[in-house]
Amino acid sequence: AEVNPVVAVVGGGLAGLAAAIEAYEAGATVYLFDKAKSLGGNSAKATSGINGAETSVQRDKGIQDKVEMFHGDVIRSGAGRSVPALVDVVAGRSADAVEWLMGDRFGLGLTAIAHCGGHSAPRTHRLPPLPDGRPVPVGFTTIKAVQGYLSSRPERVNIVTNAEVTRLLVAKDGAVTGLSYRRAAQGGGKGGQGETVEVAAGAVVLATGGYAFDRSPASLLSKYAPDKLHLATTSGPQATGDGVRLAEDLGAALVDMDQIQVHPTALVDPKDPTNLSKFLGPETMRGEGGILVDGTGKRFTNELATRIAVTEAIFKHGRPATRAADGSAVAAAGGVTPTVAFLIMNGAVAEKFGRGMLGFYKGKGLVTEVEDAAAAAALIGTDAATLAATLQQYARDAHAGAADAFGKVTFPVKDFSPDEPLFVAIITPAIHYTMGGVAIDAAGRVLRNAASGSAQEPIPRLFAAGEVSGGVHGGNRLAGNSLLECVVMGRVAGREAAAVA
Ligand code: FAD
Repeated sequence: AEVNPVVAVVGGGLAGLAAAIEAYEAGATVYLFDKAKSLGGNSAKATSGINGAETSVQRDKGIQDKVEMFHGDVIRSGAGRSVPALVDVVAGRSADAVEWLMGDRFGLGLTAIAHCGGHSAPRTHRLPPLPDGRPVPVGFTTIKAVQGYLSSRPERVNIVTNAEVTRLLVAKDGAVTGLSYRRAAQGGGKGGQGETVEVAAGAVVLATGGYAFDRSPASLLSKYAPDKLHLATTSGPQATGDGVRLAEDLGAALVDMDQIQVHPTALVDPKDPTNLSKFLGPETMRGEGGILVDGTGKRFTNELATRIAVTEAIFKHGRPATRAADGSAVAAAGGVTPTVAFLIMNGAVAEKFGRGMLGFYKGKGLVTEVEDAAAAAALIGTDAATLAATLQQYARDAHAGAADAFGKVTFPVKDFSPDEPLFVAIITPAIHYTMGGVAIDAAGRVLRNAASGSAQEPIPRLFAAGEVSGGVHGGNRLAGNSLLECVVMGRVAGREAAAVA
């Protein structure tokens, strides 16, 4: 028999890792399962940063911020759907979350701060670029640091990869008593492949992430947001909503499952246009002055309009990424045929965006550098004169000092010329985040509808944290709030799980 309580954590993204650390530090023996061969999930892809209000870094930089302001921003963005009691915890403990990552355990230098859309103060903490300008990816670096801390504590921490959790075990009284997982095929098909293993645990924390990747007829997207099925996603293939289903099997209540965040500019790989999974084209590509044109080389929107407006404009004016001679979409096997437009940057935009950062996307083949507008037009598949005229008109509008035909009033870069080198990216709107998930309370306990009345009650010994849960972001997640939720609610859930295990 175990001397220490046992906590099982399902999923090794930031939420699961935070829960595991907290459970470990509370004295539990921890099992962390991930179906992937390495940890990190979507957390490892994060590039914007993590939010904190009233942090020491903000104070050092003289940034005026208040937890109440942050709280208000989250509620406003959630459009009436966020659960205030959850926002209280996430916003209230945001500074603590940032300090936790920066402190002795992990020593992350989150000393750069960005002002992201929808925030009333600069509060998105990130890692400053290297001296040569190359960016330091905040998600990947954070996962490595946090995972390193856990893996160096083997006496009470067991990390099991290639292990897909398929079922939760429950006692007669409905309390969770453990889980069962399947060992995924190991390289070379050694023994144990497909074997199912049961593990007893005093509490289980679900941290399996979102559900943007699964497009099967039985998927959560098919059920709750069928109008989004044709979109690509910035999520990795692990984002199939497993934790939602595991909890649902036990009667968990689900919230906001139809609330899906779409980002207008995921990057299309010209060599693999129908792949469901895409790299994100950061907001700053447009924010620092990038121009959007359609397949004919004409502008069609205010690049600085809201994500929703830009997305709608792309669907209206874009063209299928793969098309037959008559221009109709070619169906993709196992993927999607994205509707695309083209993002054009010049040297001045590149300078502001960061040449090192742009080099990353060029290296991946997602941004192409060409010598002038004629070469860019050839790449887009339109005539040089149209694109040249578009760039010249843009420069005239920018210098005119009034709103242009699309209502754009701010022109981060005014001078564009058909004769200068340009950077071209093929972009498409993609599912970036799934706001819905299992209902939780402020202690991270998974809720179910009580047998009588409208009240909800916790499912004993079952917790959830991170994107698998719903309630914090409501109708729209603000940049930097997901990593924050992972740290805050992961830690809360891990601590509570250890206490009841
Ligand atoms: P994940 O990190 O996705 O981890 C879930 C893990 O669970 C995975 O490792 C998966 O393999 C595992 N798993 C799933 N099912 C099972 C199962 N059945 N059994 C075992 N294991 C399982 N948010 C921000 O706050 N700031 C940003 O800058 C930011 N940038 C982003 C950039 C991109 C490209 C993307 C896609 C998202 C970004 N987000 C950002 C959102 C944020 O990264 C994620 O929403 C968040 O990290 C999710 O963390 P998680 O721990 O809940 O899930």
